[in-house]
Amino acid sequence: MSPPPVSTGGGSLFLAGRRAAAYLAGKTIDYLIVGQGLAGTLIGFRLERAGHSVHYLDAPHQQSASRVAAGIVNPITGLRFVKSWRIDELLPEARSLYADLERELDVQLWYDLPLVRTLFNRGEQNDWLARSGDEGYADYLDDHPALGAIPEVTDPAFAYAGVRHSARVDVRTLVTRYRERLLRQDRLSEIAFDYDDLETEGDSINWTENGRQRSFDRVIFCEGWRSRFNPWFGDLPYGGNKGEVLIVKTQAPLLDRLFKHRIFLVPQADGTYWVGATSHNQWAEEGPSPESRQYLEDRLRELMTVPYEIVDHRAAVRPTVRDRRPIIGPHPRQDGLWIFNGLGTKGASLAPLVSRWLEAWLAGNDNIPGEVKLSRFPDRK
Ligand SMILES: Cc1cc2nc3c(=O)[nH]c(=O)nc-3n(C[C@H](O)[C@H](O)[C@H](O)COP(=O)(O)OP(=O)(O)OC[C@H]3O[C@@H](n4cnc5c(N)ncnc54)[C@H](O)[C@@H]3O)c2cc1C
Repeated sequence: MSPPPVSTGGGSLFLAGRRAAAYLAGKTIDYLIVGQGLAGTLIGFRLERAGHSVHYLDAPHQQSASRVAAGIVNPITGLRFVKSWRIDELLPEARSLYADLERELDVQLWYDLPLVRTLFNRGEQNDWLARSGDEGYADYLDDHPALGAIPEVTDPAFAYAGVRHSARVDVRTLVTRYRERLLRQDRLSEIAFDYDDLETEGDSINWTENGRQRSFDRVIFCEGWRSRFNPWFGDLPYGGNKGEVLIVKTQAPLLDRLFKHRIFLVPQADGTYWVGATSHNQWAEEGPSPESRQYLEDRLRELMTVPYEIVDHRAAVRPTVRDRRPIIGPHPRQDGLWIFNGLGTKGASLAPLVSRWLEAWLAGNDNIPGEVKLSRFPDRK
C-alpha cells in the first residue's frame, strides 16, 4: 500500500503523526466511510482535517445523485416563494467549506450566479410582490432582476423575478476530484460494500476486503438512496426521488446566471447547459428513460429560441426522507455505526452545515438541532 499523505504543517489534507503511523502499520483506522458522494466527501474531509485517519469505500460505475446534480443553491423555493430551511446559516457555512475544498483540490467549485425565475401570470406576480414585504426576505428577493442574455436565447415570459445569494456548486467535479485524490493515496476501495463483510468486536469494527481484515473505530454510512438496503439503517422513512437531466450545447451566448422556467437552465464551466430536472417518487429503472427525455426535450423546445444539441442524458435518485430533513447520528444499539443521509433535493446547500454538526457529534458534542438527529424516529426495530 502506498503511504498516506503526512502533514507538512501546511494547509493540505493530512493524517497527523500517530494516525499516519497507525494507518501505515495496518492498525485500527478511525473511520470507514461507505459511499463517497457529497455526504461522504464532506464528512471525510472534515475528519481528515481534524487529524483522523479515514478510509473510503464506493461502488465503481454506480450513478449517484452527486454526479447528476446541478448543485443549485436557491434560497427561495417552491410555489409560495419561501425561504429554504435555515438558509441564513447554511450559506456562510457552504461558502466557507467549499472555498477550503477549492484550495485543497485546486479547482473552482462555487459559482456566484444570480437566479432569474419566470413568473407565469398576474397571480404569481402578486404573490411574489407580497412576499417581498415579509420580514427577512428583502435581501433575497429582487423585483427587477437584470436578465443578461435571457431574452436572446429564450422566449419572452409574462414577467421575471430575481433571487439574490443564489449560486451553483460543481458537485460532480468535487466528488470526481476528491475520488481521484483518494485513489492516488490508496485510501478508497472501489467496491460495492457487502454488509456480511462487517463484524463488530468489542470496541472495534472489522471489515474484510479481499481476504485482508482491517479494523475501524467507526463506520459512517453515506449511501444516498441505497441506504434502504442497509441492515442497520434500512428501516428509516426514506422516500427517494428519481431525477433526469439533459446536457445541451449551443453556439449562442452562454447565460451568466441561473434561469428557472418550467425547468432550470444552468450554465456550466465547460460551456454546456445542464437542463432539468424531472422528479418522480416512483421509478422502475435507475437509468435514463425515453419518457423523461421526451418531457425534457418538449420543455426545452418551448423555451429555447436558438439551435442546440443534446449531448448527454443522465439520471439518478435523490436521497429524500419523508420529513424532508437530513439524518445524522449513531445507531441506537450497535456501537460505532453512524449514518449521514437525507440530503434530498438540496444537498449542495445542506451538506456543509450538516457535516459540521456531525463532526461535532462524533467528537462528543450532541448539542445540535433535534430535527436532523436519527433519534427523531423512535419507532425503529
Ligand atoms: C437530477 C438531480 C438534480 C439535483 N439537483 C440538485 C441541485 O441543483 N442542488 C442541490 O443542492 N441538490 C441537487 N440534487 C440533490 C443532490 O444530488 C443530493 O442531495 C446529494 O448529492 C446527495 O449526496 P449523497 O452523498 O447523500 O448521495 P449520493 O450522491 O447518491 O452518493 C451515495 C454514494 O454511495 C455509494 N454507495 C451506496 N451504497 C453503496 C454500497 N453498498 N457500497 C459502496 N458504495 C455505495 C454510491 O455509489 C454513491 O457514490 C439533485 C439530484 C438529482 C438526482
